[in-house]
Amino acid sequence: MSASATSLLPEPCRQHPHGYRMSKFPFQGEIGQPPLPPQVWLSRANVPPSLRDTSTPGLVALQLLDGKISQVLPQGEFEALPADGVPVLDLDGSTVLPAFVDPHTHLDKGDLCAAGLAPERDLFDAIARVRGDYVHWSAAELSRRIDFALRSAYAHGTRALNSYCDWSQPAGPTAWRVLQDLRTRWAGRVELVITSLASIAELEDPARAATIAAAVAEGGGVLGWFVYPGAPVHLLPRAFDLAERHGLRLDFHVDEHLEPPRPNLPHVARLASERGWGARTVCGHCCVLGVLETGERDALLDEVAASGLGLVSLPWTNLYLQDNASDPAHGGRRTPRRRGLLPVHEARARGIPLAFASDNHRDPFFPGGDLDPLQTLALAAMAAHLDDPVRDWADTVTRQGAALLGLGWDGVLRPGAPADLVIHPGRDSVEVVGRAAHGRRVVRAGRLLAGAEAVPPDFRELDGLRR
Ligand SMILES: [Zn+2]
Repeated sequence: MSASATSLLPEPCRQHPHGYRMSKFPFQGEIGQPPLPPQVWLSRANVPPSLRDTSTPGLVALQLLDGKISQVLPQGEFEALPADGVPVLDLDGSTVLPAFVDPHTHLDKGDLCAAGLAPERDLFDAIARVRGDYVHWSAAELSRRIDFALRSAYAHGTRALNSYCDWSQPAGPTAWRVLQDLRTRWAGRVELVITSLASIAELEDPARAATIAAAVAEGGGVLGWFVYPGAPVHLLPRAFDLAERHGLRLDFHVDEHLEPPRPNLPHVARLASERGWGARTVCGHCCVLGVLETGERDALLDEVAASGLGLVSLPWTNLYLQDNASDPAHGGRRTPRRRGLLPVHEARARGIPLAFASDNHRDPFFPGGDLDPLQTLALAAMAAHLDDPVRDWADTVTRQGAALLGLGWDGVLRPGAPADLVIHPGRDSVEVVGRAAHGRRVVRAGRLLAGAEAVPPDFRELDGLRR
């Protein structure tokens, strides 16, 4: 251990029998903002089983070296090692997760509430309100809102994020170019995946659809489509044709409604199976699955499982926007009865890849949210009754999203993986969910985020957006 590293650590809080100098991990407010030494052990870490390689139950010790994880040992094995001079930070059971992956967001629409747009209570009203605002979406305006969103996500511990881009013009909207520019500027901090979002009706015109696919391929994006109730699903094969032609991943907004209870997901699943494109296909929302008869739902989930496609559940927007109706007889509002969540337990039981994601934030679709996957997990835990959510479901905001987006690192904490971590002082699901928004530290490439980058930006930065 170098002298400079020693001086940045607090006094040892406990002397291990084997000679390790154990210092407490520097959670916010305890000792300012010290950098981590380039080589350090994080001892007594609670890492969920699905996010580590070691099968031994209990706490682990992780060694970080030059921005990567160099060792992960069961705590007992670590404590039996002779002291090697590497400083040790004692996490005392705190939870350590890989940095988050958020596979479904709409950064092009984000923070439109700050621009003065009112929230809606119906998906299609929200779509109409946002379309009416496109005229204000200059490159500068978009860049300001999207950069604000990326700074928020980064501070919360997100390493990769997929943003849709409303496809308002055949050759690509301004937002597409802004997202590409920000993808470059944010490389190394947030890996930005960008996905077109065009109506499936666009596939009616082959030339127009080909233009979209070519622009997406040229921009290194994912080919995404909105499949609404009553949509012309006979056109879906063309989406797969285009994906095959350009080697693109496919993504569908599908069945984001509760009525009529006739899902379009079976059409996508069938094609994904036939084309062998399941591992490259993702379907988000699928709300209507939650109101299908049990037999029909189970048969559909079996078909989805066989196809290999992945599902993304969006609890924030769906809890807000589904079954959000008026009742003039009772003072204008009524309490929702149906919650619009896809059947996540039944999907997981079948081995269907499943992630939770943010979806909209602070726009006409959802007047809240902050692109924080840990808060999304906490919400999902209550909304969908996830037992021991951090131990058994933390992969839905990390590893699962990484697989759905085809990222290079799968999110498992193993030797050689990036030292990209979220460290929360909670020692179990109760403590982490109970205080999800508070107290975490984010480590990126072995460096603790500090100062302005460690906190989400101030909303007052957006005051000038008002139309
Ligand atoms: Zn969406």
